[in-house]
Amino acid sequence: MLKADDRIFQNLYGEQSANLSASQKRGDWSTTKDIIANGRDWIINEIKISGLRGRGGAGFSTGMKWSFIPKDTSPYPVYLVINADESEPGTCKDRDILRNEPHKLIEGALIAGAAIGAHTGYIYIRGEYYNESIILEKAIVEAYNNGLLGKNAAKTGWDFDLYIHRGAGAYICGEESALLESLEGKKGMPRLKPPFPANIGLYGCPTIINNVETIAVVPTILRRGAAWFTGIGRPNNTGTKVFCISGHVNTPCNVEEAMGIPLRELIEKHAGGVRGGWDNLKAIIPGGSSVPMLPRDICDTVLMDFDSLRAEGSGLGTAGVIVMDKSTDIIRAIARLSKFYMHESCGQCSPCREGTGWMWRMMERLSRGDGTFDDIDLLLDVTKQVEGHTICALGDAAAWPIQGLIRHFRRDIEERIRGHA
Ligand code: SF4
Repeated sequence: MLKADDRIFQNLYGEQSANLSASQKRGDWSTTKDIIANGRDWIINEIKISGLRGRGGAGFSTGMKWSFIPKDTSPYPVYLVINADESEPGTCKDRDILRNEPHKLIEGALIAGAAIGAHTGYIYIRGEYYNESIILEKAIVEAYNNGLLGKNAAKTGWDFDLYIHRGAGAYICGEESALLESLEGKKGMPRLKPPFPANIGLYGCPTIINNVETIAVVPTILRRGAAWFTGIGRPNNTGTKVFCISGHVNTPCNVEEAMGIPLRELIEKHAGGVRGGWDNLKAIIPGGSSVPMLPRDICDTVLMDFDSLRAEGSGLGTAGVIVMDKSTDIIRAIARLSKFYMHESCGQCSPCREGTGWMWRMMERLSRGDGTFDDIDLLLDVTKQVEGHTICALGDAAAWPIQGLIRHFRRDIEERIRGHA
């Protein structure tokens, strides 16, 4: 279990104020000038050594991503874009950071900006996070008024401006290139890659896009040292992570814990256990709705990190842990997710546009037991034709929950069909 003073987010639950003076008492903005004075190569290298992997879902090395920005980008500016479009079902960690620890994010943005050579940053915040956008705006104004943003920000010699842009509620705008399109005022539709945003991003300029949690942990890592961060978690899965635990648990919550904590321990220590006890558990979706679910026997032992969950055919994703007890109609639950992905598909590529609708219709039928055993294989085949054949990962996200259902609960679907017959 993570030691209390190893928690990066000391005000995750909003017990103290989110304002500047309270944030400074918690250590924010304390050595920003010294950190930036070490130079961009030092910052990027330290973040690489820390092993920080993106907290938005993909888990890519943050230091590596930053190093992709070309050294000389003139005459083009470099942009930093922070993805606060948190829309993954079962996930609400960035919301707590935005409303309770906004200065960690703003300080992180300044440091990241200096590291990649950006004088301008944008925070693209989910439109429904209205209250959070107000708190964040207030915190940014406070930072400007106290010389922490703008010209010679925090007396670092680096000029840095930070803007908020509110989204309009499309899930797909959480995909980084769709987010850039939306930020440019166009329809939120993912771009074909390559080119990657580090070369051609916002307004055609080199751009780094990171999740809120990724940027918010940067100042603490640099203050306490990469070695401190790597001392938590497991090799290649270092540091702390904010987990969101929802569903059939006694006390749903967000909690910051060490990477690699056993899933069972996470739920029993922080969420009051599964409703009706661990034996009443049916399945868990461990990383937001896009990743395959895990049955109880795997949940007994699996560790909550990128590599352990991947080895079990699932993923850490956003670390949105959705717990389902035995009262859950698991087929109906996945059918509901299929409807979500069909609704959120931007429609620009055929396998996703057609496939998500096809998968949903088949899931609806199977949830009623209205089908044959062959339909299960046909559905699996459709998911394979969507997976990996689309412009962005939404196609995979629609396919994986169904694949997880068929892999682990095929017998439930067959029983439903038998019962209907
Ligand atoms: Fe749009 Fe779906 Fe294609 Fe992504 S996979 S670009 S959401 S149609």
